[in-house]
Order: sequence, then structure tokens, then C-alpha cells
Amino acid sequence: MPQGRAGSLESLRRLNRLRVIHALRDEGQISRAEIARRTGLSRSTVSSLVADLQADGLVVERPEPGSAHGAQGGRPPILLSFDASAGAAVGIDFGHSHLRVAVSDLASTILAERKLPLDTDHDAQQGLELAAEMVADALSDAGVQRTQVIGAGMGLPGPIEQSAGTVGSSAILPGWIGMMAASEMRRRLDIPVMVDNDANLGALAEAAFGAGQDAGDLIYLKVSSGIGAGLILNGRLYRGSSGLAGELGHVLVDPDGIVCRCGNRGCLETVAATGALVDLLRRSHGDELTVDAMLEAARGGDLGCRRVIHDAGRALGQVVATLLNVLNPELLVVGGDLAGAGDLLLDGMRESVGRAALPEAARRADVVGGVLGDRAQVLGALALVVSEADRTFPTRLVAS
Ligand SMILES: [Zn+2]
Repeated sequence: MPQGRAGSLESLRRLNRLRVIHALRDEGQISRAEIARRTGLSRSTVSSLVADLQADGLVVERPEPGSAHGAQGGRPPILLSFDASAGAAVGIDFGHSHLRVAVSDLASTILAERKLPLDTDHDAQQGLELAAEMVADALSDAGVQRTQVIGAGMGLPGPIEQSAGTVGSSAILPGWIGMMAASEMRRRLDIPVMVDNDANLGALAEAAFGAGQDAGDLIYLKVSSGIGAGLILNGRLYRGSSGLAGELGHVLVDPDGIVCRCGNRGCLETVAATGALVDLLRRSHGDELTVDAMLEAARGGDLGCRRVIHDAGRALGQVVATLLNVLNPELLVVGGDLAGAGDLLLDGMRESVGRAALPEAARRADVVGGVLGDRAQVLGALALVVSEADRTFPTRLVAS
């Protein structure tokens, strides 16, 4: 089997593994048949995923209480439960201006969470040091020993070259470009670290626990100070050949537009990222206007703020329409700071999608807001650890 195809099947299996873990967590005790019903996966897929989880020491089975002989004297139904005490995971989300850290058990139940503002011009080394301190504090809040942690997932706002965990050149944090982020963080935490792009983690989180739980093909669009998409195709996260897939913020929308931080002109980010919107409003609303204040004013009926957000939605929708024609997903989940505008933004997108996408592609794809809000990335980072635990951190997963 070619490498790419094998990789796809692996990724699909990991997303399904997360879905099984969540069915186990939500129900506490559950049979294989019930997992299949809840997740929509086939019985044989569920049996195989459960066998893996048992081999990893994450799942234990026991007969249903009080039914030692089964209802008709047959074999008693076997219930499975998740052994959350088998370990813990750490999630780290570096935003443009914030840093969020969370600790969860292996069923992705959050045990502790911390958030701090981050200077947008911070030096990468300082950011890593601060994150390491926050992880230590969060572990202490959660009462979790470092030796119990099987790994950390870390999200960064830029393309990540997966084989080396290197941050790509269009990253929104300039000081991070070219950095071997995973090994730098691993050295500080002394636990295994996986790094991924923030939009990919948002897609993973919304697909596993959020708005896209029933979708096999979904696009997660993050609209904040940068714009990026995470693509889940055929149930798997699609990263492209060098981690650049979904870099939607640098699609050309206006050939005569202003110069983008990437060096080209008129990229989507120059018209629809939060900074571009605030810039448009400076003359009328003052130099002190922030993104939060703009969203608040829009909710309060301010016409100028409503106009720029709606227009941003239309610009986003035009680019998204192309994506819908090319990829034909069933769901487009919108997250990031601007998603806080809700239908004001989404209606602008739907308008453009309705005009520019193939009618069938537009009809097929729902445009919805994410349900995980600004926690999507850190939850995705935790999901990355849990879903890839057996592959990436095999030596730490000893059956308990
Ligand atoms: Zn650009």
C-alpha cells in the first residue's frame, strides 16, 4: 500500500478512536453494540478499536452487574469502561495574543486550565518558558504528577512541517519561524510533545466533541488575527505534503489590495482578519478600538461595526465557496475570535456561498458556528495526545 493511503487510513482510525473514547467517557459503562450505535461505526470497527484500547491499558471490561447468566441464560453482556486513571494529557495553545494550557485525564475530562495574555511581539523562547511554567502550575492544580502525563499537544498559529515539527514561514508569530517547536518544548517539559497548526486542532476538536461529531467531511475555518482552515476529509485530518493545507488566509481576493504580511497583495487576511476590520473602523471609531469592543458594539447595533463584519463574512464566503466546489464537505464550522459575531458573520458567508458555490455544493454544506469557542484549540491539543497516544508515546502506555 502506498504511504499516503496507509497514512489516511491511520488518521481515520485515530478520529474513530477518539469517538469511541468519548462514547465510553459519556456513558461510563457501555457495551460494544451501544458504542457502535452511538458513533455510527460498524460493529467490527468498534471491536477492533476497543481491542487496541484494551491492549493500551485504557479500557477494561466487566460483566453487566446482576446479569451473571444473561437474560436468556446466554453469555452475559460485557460492559466496557474507560480507565481514565491510566494517565493524563497536557494541551498548550499559543494564540496571537494569548496562551492557554489545560490538563485532562485520558478520557479528555479537563482537570485544570489556565490562560494568560501574551505579548504579540514576544520572543519564542520566552513564550516556551512561560508555557512550561503554566504547565507546571496546571499539573499542580490538577494534582497530577509529571510521570503520569503521557504527552503534550501544542497548537501554533502557522503551518507545521510534521516530520520535524518545524514552524513554517507564514506563521503569524514571526519569532517562531523555523523553530523546532516540538523538541524545544519537550526539552523544557521532559514529556513527549506533538505540535500542530491551530486550525487543524480546531477541526479535530469540533469533529471529535463539537459541532461536527457526525461529519466525515468538514472544514473548520478559524478567523482571528490570522485566517486558516483545518480540513477533515473522509474522516481524517488532511495536512498536505508539507503542512500548508488550509492556509486560506493567503488566497488572493483583491489583486490591487494592500500588501499582506506574506509579501503578496490583497490576500483574504488583508480584508477579513480581525486586525483588518479594526483598521477599517479606526477613522470612525477611534484608535483605541479593540476586537472585543468591535464585537460588543456590533451586538449593540453599531452600524459601522456590523457592516465591516458582514462584509468580512462575504469575502470569506467567496473563498469558502471555491473550497466547497473543490472538496464538497457536509459542514463548514467557523471558529476563532470573529466567530463571536455569530450570524452577523455567518449570514455574510452564507450569502456569498449561495452566490458563488455550485448550488448542490452550497445546499449540501451547512455553515455553522463552532460550539467550543476559544477553547477549541486547547481541546484539540488534548485530543491529539489521546488519539495518537499509542503511536507517538508507546513507551509511556503501560497497562495498569
Ligand atoms: Zn498573504
